[in-house]
Amino acid sequence: MKINYNFEMMNIIKGFNGRRPSLLLHSCCGPCSTSVILRLKDYFEITVYYYNPNIYPKEEYLRREEEQRLYLDSLGIKYIQGDYENDKYESAISGLEMEPEGGLRCSVCFKMRLENTATIADKLNAEYFTTTLTVSTHKNSKVINEIGLEIAKDIKVKYLSSDFKKDDGYKKSVQMSQELGMYRQDYCGCFYSKKEREKKIEENV
Ligand code: SF4
Repeated sequence: MKINYNFEMMNIIKGFNGRRPSLLLHSCCGPCSTSVILRLKDYFEITVYYYNPNIYPKEEYLRREEEQRLYLDSLGIKYIQGDYENDKYESAISGLEMEPEGGLRCSVCFKMRLENTATIADKLNAEYFTTTLTVSTHKNSKVINEIGLEIAKDIKVKYLSSDFKKDDGYKKSVQMSQELGMYRQDYCGCFYSKKEREKKIEENV
């Protein structure tokens, strides 16, 4: 049976009865975080965690990081930057380089980012952790949520399942980031997604 993760999330939130638990929100980039933060900020005490060792090259990583930080500064939301461990990412996805976007390489990439987020959430004694990744129409929320729930079995922090693309979440993130004049990248993040994007542009010329 297909799970409606957005419905499940809203049911969990209803159960708070006005209480605002702490949440470590993994964010892939500033633009994606806009509509996700808008949806969660009234219900959680949010700290955003930028851990994206998949992004290539480092200049792009830094550009996205700066955009993220500036946006959070403007909102007064707490922020933690993780380490840029692109070598570690490359080792993790070794053998999966030729996978298409949405394939096994992405599952490993999600897992790496969520495991690291869970470790930090545990250290911070956060009540929940989750990720902005489900806002993307290119990403499978079921795959992401199953990984998050599996990771949460071994720690005391709860994973908040989500499908942030629901209720026009993706559309809103595009609108909001455009209105704010934010930098929005045209490829997912890794070297391989960059190459895929460049190939598509070349083919369309
Ligand atoms: S395409 Fe995106 S999600 Fe998939 S491995 Fe590359 S950076 Fe990670």
